[in-house]
Formats: sequence, C-alpha cells, structure tokens
Amino acid sequence: MVGSSGSCENCKQDLEVYCPEIIWILKTFGGYSENIVIDEHFAVLIPNSLPLHGAAPLLCAGITVYSPMMYYGLCKPRQHLGVVGLGGLGRVAVKFAKALGMKVTVISTSPSKKNEAVERLGVDSFLVAMGTMDGIINIVSGPYTLLPLINLLKTNGKLIAVGASTEAPEIPYIPLMMGRKLIGGSTTRGMKETQEMVDFAAKHNIIVDIEVIPMNYMNTAMERLAKGDTKYRFVIDVANTLYSSF
Ligand SMILES: [Zn+2]
Repeated sequence: MVGSSGSCENCKQDLEVYCPEIIWILKTFGGYSENIVIDEHFAVLIPNSLPLHGAAPLLCAGITVYSPMMYYGLCKPRQHLGVVGLGGLGRVAVKFAKALGMKVTVISTSPSKKNEAVERLGVDSFLVAMGTMDGIINIVSGPYTLLPLINLLKTNGKLIAVGASTEAPEIPYIPLMMGRKLIGGSTTRGMKETQEMVDFAAKHNIIVDIEVIPMNYMNTAMERLAKGDTKYRFVIDVANTLYSSF
C-alpha cells in the first residue's frame, strides 16, 4: 500500500490496510518501477543487517503471519503453535514462532516437507496429537475441512486463517463451543506494525527463503507459479538486470 485517507477510524488506529480509501501499489506499476515516490508514512526502514532480497517478501509474507500472532496473543514462549501449510508464509511463521521461543508443529499433507521442517527450520514435531495446541495459523488456500484443525486445539485455542481460501468450509459450532475455541482471520497490517515486524526480523536474523531471478526470467517464473512448481518466493533482481542489459 502507498496511500490511505489518514483520517478514518482505521487509519487513526494504525490499520491503514483496512482504510476504505487505501491505494495499492499496483496503481503505480508496483515493484517493477525503476523509481517510485511515496509519502514517507508508507516507507519502511530496512535495517542494514537485513539483506534486501531476503527482506523484501517480509513486507507481505512476514507481516501476514506476524500480525495475527501478535493480535491473537499467539506469541508467548512455550505456547504450542500449529502451522498448516509449509509454503512461503508457513516458513516465515515457523521462523517467527521459534524466535519467540514457542513450540512449533507443522501440519502438512506432504511428507516430503518433513525433513525440511525438522532439520532446516527447527520445527519441534510434524506429527500431531489432539487437543495440544494453543493456536494454529492456517495458510491453506485450497478447500479444507475445519473439524480436524479445531480438534487439535486446546481449550481456548485459536484457529487463525491467513490463506485466501475461496471455498468456504462449514463451521462446526458445537466443537468450538465445547472448548471455547475461536476462529479468526487476518491480512497484512498497518505501517507501524510492519516496521515493528521488520525490526523484530532484523534482531533475530529472520529473512524469507527466496529464489532470486533476473527480469527476463519473469515469464518462466509466472508459468512455474501457475504450475505450483515453486519452493520459495521469487525475488526479481531489478538492479542487476538493468545493469547487465546495458
Ligand atoms: Zn483511512
């Protein structure tokens, strides 16, 4: 986002992303621009210790998982957090949760991701027992059923959706009632918390796992995205692409 009203109820609470007059960067040719002028309110300071290519996707993937963890109180040491789906967002969620001293379990239907989760990301477990989690960050964007996830939660547990699933799952109210459990949702957040998230990432050396590509690889990258043939976020190296083509 690059602009908002600055005066509505949401803007006054640092929730620019919910402003009815929000201006998305798409209108300004986005990240493909060589130069961009924005109000300083919408600029984020990237600390020197963070490499730009690994920090760039934090501004979407990072804040998308960091914000609900903070808002819903799923950020305390020794709490048990479940992460459904180990894609771009899931990996960052695991990194934040581990930096916060939480116990993390990845819930995934692909056994191939187990080694990476346990060995590379330091996930505590991949298998799951019922009624053991304080919260679950659900990143799944395809169709899914809620009941198995609700059953993993302890009493007062929270299931937070951040994946853009277009298929509405049926909500099983009785299992929610029986454990005073909550289903919530979240997207990215305002500028203040985005800066806090970047500073937290810098302090704990958290960057997003990425694949750096030159500009002329874009079409192939888009084809790979459509096929689901990606492991990490693509980051386009605009500067090197420009220099090497002259
Ligand atoms: Zn506003």
